[in-house]
Amino acid sequence: MNKDKLSQLPAVDRLLAQPALADAIARHGRQPITDCARAELAAARELIRAGHAAPDTEALAASIVARVEKLAQPNLRPVFNLSGTVLHTNLGRALLAPEAVAAMAVAATAPCALEYDIADGGRGDRDSLVEPLLAEILAAAMGEKAKDFAATIVNNNAAAVLLVLDSLVKGKEAVVSRGELVEIGGAFRVPDIMRRAGAKLVEIGTTNRTHAKDYAEAITARTAMLMKVHTSNYAVVGFTKTVEETEIASIAHEYGIPFMVDLGSGTLTDFARWGLPKEPTPQDSLAAGADLVTFSGDKLLGGPQAGIIVGRKDLIARIKKNPLKRALRVGKITLAALEATLALYRDPDRLAQRLPTLRLLTRSEHDIAAQAERLCAVLADFAGETSQVSIEPAMSQIGSGALPVERLASAALVVRYEGKRPGKQLAALEERLRALPQPVIGRIADDALRLDLRCLDPADEVRFVTQLTDAS
Ligand SMILES: *Cc1c(COP(=O)(O)O)cnc(C)c1O
Repeated sequence: MNKDKLSQLPAVDRLLAQPALADAIARHGRQPITDCARAELAAARELIRAGHAAPDTEALAASIVARVEKLAQPNLRPVFNLSGTVLHTNLGRALLAPEAVAAMAVAATAPCALEYDIADGGRGDRDSLVEPLLAEILAAAMGEKAKDFAATIVNNNAAAVLLVLDSLVKGKEAVVSRGELVEIGGAFRVPDIMRRAGAKLVEIGTTNRTHAKDYAEAITARTAMLMKVHTSNYAVVGFTKTVEETEIASIAHEYGIPFMVDLGSGTLTDFARWGLPKEPTPQDSLAAGADLVTFSGDKLLGGPQAGIIVGRKDLIARIKKNPLKRALRVGKITLAALEATLALYRDPDRLAQRLPTLRLLTRSEHDIAAQAERLCAVLADFAGETSQVSIEPAMSQIGSGALPVERLASAALVVRYEGKRPGKQLAALEERLRALPQPVIGRIADDALRLDLRCLDPADEVRFVTQLTDAS
């Protein structure tokens, strides 16, 4: 009986000759379709042995196409970030401007002058691709003084901190306030990085209060640096005291040691211009007397993953001589994206339109609420009959450690279920949203699924609606 059914299954060659598979073969190649056909036939044989009917050739062809399409999907897939956190580390942080994307494509596909001086035909330095632009941006805020600074670029800000400590503090001590011994998501801990760099951490002050005299009293012949870390993902409030950067700088300089600031996010422009909360800038720290500042490329800067070190020329020169710099350096594609992103800062008037991350951060609550009105019915259809979908005010987070207590007024689509076991229905809805061709990432809290629409670019709205209606 089963033998009969097994013999009804077509041979691989006959399957591959199906018109339905011609298109798939043209797109994916003969080998993957052959592999998928074998796998589907094997699965069909299993089913037949278990007593099921033999699938017809058409059904087999369809499941082969489905299998190969799934196989061809990249692992790094785009999602809709409706989590309410704009710079979401697990979702890739900043989105690049088209100018940066275009520059990456050029760098990726043509030989380029990465370490080649076109003017004299000699060897060049990859840092010099972005150093003048950084100097230009610093000069806009601090004038002539910007000339005293140089820059070097590494893989990320964690690498920047590691490299600075390894270059300047190794075997000696760095002084940090207890209020700033932060852990950033993904296991960046200031004390751990210090240990890896061979720097001895000297903690001063208390969790809530550190005074200028704490810095001065900690300095000995072994001290190689005073360090300040931007407390980027929490805020100490109440009875607190921190020491101004100008004051730490003057103590450091009195003893002839450098002062470094790990800014974390570090926007290069004044956010107040767009009504956003004030975030410290590298310009502020350098003007206050910091000798070195480190910050990320893919946080508020809105560029690619990178760590940027700017500061005193002599210190940057020492850092660049460290063999670890070679291990932590960035590639041409990152530098291309960073250069193009920095170039956009020349025209601050249009920055909020051109930098996608800034565009999302500056979207008005009114604009987001209007978008929620447009999408409410579509989501209700997708969520099913027993769902209740409402539009509610939301507070977006900037994320990645920028401005931890500040929130941006936004609007969310909120789904609740009536009746028994709403939690189960919510979990099922959340899973269906994640299973869409472009997964939708929301957040379940207080017996509701919340989709904060701040990061749904209006340009992507049609695609969002289409996939929900197709799956309803
Ligand atoms: C984010 C952050 C880091 C780590 O930066 P990455 O670019 O993620 O490596 C380090 N220090 C501070 C203060 C930060 O906010």
